[in-house]
Parts: sequence; structure tokens; C-alpha cells
Amino acid sequence: MLLIKNGRVIDPASRTDATLDVLLEGERISRTGASLPAKDAEVFDATGMIVAPGFIDLHCHLREPGQELSETIESGTLAAARGGFTAVCPMPNTHPVNDNASVTRYMVERAAAAGHVRVWPIGAASRESNGESLAEIMAMKEAGAVAVSDDGKPIATARLVRQVMDYCRSLDLPVVEHCEDPSLAAGGVMREGPRSIRLGLMGIPAASESICVERDIEMSALTGCRLHIAHMSARASLDHVRAAKRNRLPVTCEVTPHHFTLIDEDVVYDSRYKMNPPLGSREDREALLEGFADGSIDSIATDHAPHHPASKDVEFDRAPFGIIGFETALSLALEQLFHSNRITLPRLVELFTTGPARVLGRERSLAPGQPADLTIFSPDHPWTFRAAESASRSRNSPFDGREFRGAPMATVVAGKIAYRR
Ligand SMILES: [Zn+2]
Ligand SMILES: [Zn+2]
Repeated sequence: MLLIKNGRVIDPASRTDATLDVLLEGERISRTGASLPAKDAEVFDATGMIVAPGFIDLHCHLREPGQELSETIESGTLAAARGGFTAVCPMPNTHPVNDNASVTRYMVERAAAAGHVRVWPIGAASRESNGESLAEIMAMKEAGAVAVSDDGKPIATARLVRQVMDYCRSLDLPVVEHCEDPSLAAGGVMREGPRSIRLGLMGIPAASESICVERDIEMSALTGCRLHIAHMSARASLDHVRAAKRNRLPVTCEVTPHHFTLIDEDVVYDSRYKMNPPLGSREDREALLEGFADGSIDSIATDHAPHHPASKDVEFDRAPFGIIGFETALSLALEQLFHSNRITLPRLVELFTTGPARVLGRERSLAPGQPADLTIFSPDHPWTFRAAESASRSRNSPFDGREFRGAPMATVVAGKIAYRR
């Protein structure tokens, strides 16, 4: 038994925001109330801290199987626990690609044996994610996959999107789309604009993303399938999502901490600023911040994308896309969204809990009987992120050395403390 005492309990599902105790028994939440008796329970004093349902990261890359130099399920889920996440959804672009049940099962089993947090794999939409024919979606679902995606790129053709969506609708799985028009994005390494011209780097226009968002929303309308837009970065994409929601289409979206924090003007000739989609313009960031405030954005997801220094420490043009993100996500959200008075703490908690859970068609709450997954954090704890001290095997972060106000203090998974600051 674990008794979490005196925290400010924020549970968006029940609209709770009060100083309460939470008692965990075994792997479940037993009860929530004022001044619960401790008896034989281990006590965690959460005075001055927020006690929330366990954070879910809808989008990450754990690199296992196949690229264990960059990350493993063990190292990646430890970094996730340190970031306050209790469940993470790894994308299928592993080697081999997670396009069949045996790879899905391997990931689930590795997570059970070595993982620090829950791992809910996302299966490929197409075989090898090559956009030609359907992956073994039903078998992957039976093995534990919670969604499908060809992340790294969009599902190649509208015809295949339609097939995938027809199929996923019948299986009640969301399709997660990395939206990008390959013909517009080809060769680009950062957002097209004055900064890309000044740096002499090939640019990608914002329309590359928003054109594909439009296509996929149309396909969601045609098929009735749930569509989730990954790592949305452009104002025009958000406008399309807003319109889809007004039309009551089953469309959701996520935004990464780097896209709501940094902009193209921040890019320097350093591959830690190279990600896909690239950092947007100041206007895009402003639009995303408004989207958080007005409820248009459903979730914050990290797109944690570790790359071993040997592959990332090369010329900007040649470096792979992506940055690590588990350990800085909550602190960046506090900095950019809460301390800047854009959103309330309950809304911030929603973006990490009930928001992503809803995308997956799941519940997330602190109600009795729910899994004892909790994230306990301080909105004020001062600390400095040092990439060299990350639990990840990779170091590719543009936030190395950044000073933060607010941090995860403890991560509880299935009733056990998986991480404590
Ligand atoms: Zn992607
Ligand atoms: Zn990704």
C-alpha cells in the first residue's frame, strides 16, 4: 500500500482540484479523500506538489529492436519515468519495422521485462511502412498495438489512407498521421523562410504539412475513422483541425514541446535544431499557444527521437531528424503554458492525461479501481536540464543547460514508485 498525502489532487475526469490523499492498494487506486489513515501504508508526502493521473506520451521512438546504440526499451522508459510519463507509445519505425504481431509482441514483452513504465506500441499502417499494402493490423492490435501510423512519413497515397481507415474504423483504432507532402518537403532540412535563406539551408514550406492534414481530414470524413494528427507545427494545420472539430469529425491532434517553445529564428547551424516537422515561424507558435488555450489541441506528445552522437554530430544537411524529449516535456509545458498564464494547471494536466487517453479511446482518472498510475510534480521546483545526465542513451537536445521552474517529483506505475526525484 502506498499513501500519497497532502498533495493538490488534479483529476480532470472528475473535475477534482483539492488537497487530498490518495491511497493505492496493489496495482489499483483504492480511494481518494481528506486525511486518510496511514495504517500499514508507505507514505509519500506530496505537500506543495500536484498529484495527477499518470501522464501518457502518444508519440516516441524507443529504437528497439534494431538501433539499440541510440536507445533501448530499458533506457527510453527510464527517461520517460524521469519525465513523469507512466505510459509511452513507441512508433513502429524500428528495425525490423513493427508491422506484424511478432514485433509488437517482442516490444510488449521487452517492456514487461525491462521497462520502467508501460509501453503501448503503435503498429505500422503499411508493410515496412512503405505505403504499398496493409500491415497486419488486426494481429498487431491483438498483440497490444493501440494505433497505427507510418510515422517518419505520411501514409503514401490517399487510396491507401482510405484502405487503412476503412480497416481501422472496423477495429476501432485511431490512425496517427505524420503529415507532410513529400514532393514539397523533399531535400528540406528546416522551415522555409528568411532564416533558411540566411543559413543557406534548404527549406520546407508550412504548406507541406497543412496540405496533408487536409487530405487526411477528408479521408476521415469519408471513412468515419478516427484521425490523430501527429506533431502539428503550422497555423494552417490547426485551422483545418478546428474546422474538422466544428464539423464533429473524429479528428484530434498533438503538439510537441519543441514546437510550442522554439521557432525557426532559433535555428543555428547545429543538428540539435533539426527535426521533422521543422520548427515553425513565430506566427505558427503563437497560433499553437492559442490552440492550447482555446481547447483545439488535444495533447502534448514528445516525439522523443534519440540519435546516437555518432549519427547526429555531423553536418546539418546530413544529420537525422529529431531530438530527445521525455525529461524536458513537463518543464517546458509549465514554462510556456502555465507560468506564462496561457492555461491553468488542470488544463495542463488534461493535455498529458485525459487528452491523450481520449485519442486512444481510453479512460484516465484517479477513480477507485483505476490502475495506480500517477504523476506527482512540482510547478516550481528549480532545476537545470543536463543532456549528459539524461537516462536516454542519446544527447540530442536543444534544451541542454536550460534552467527550469517545475519538475516531475515522482512517477508511480502500477502502485510502485518508478522514479523519485
Ligand atoms: Zn513524424
Ligand atoms: Zn516521430
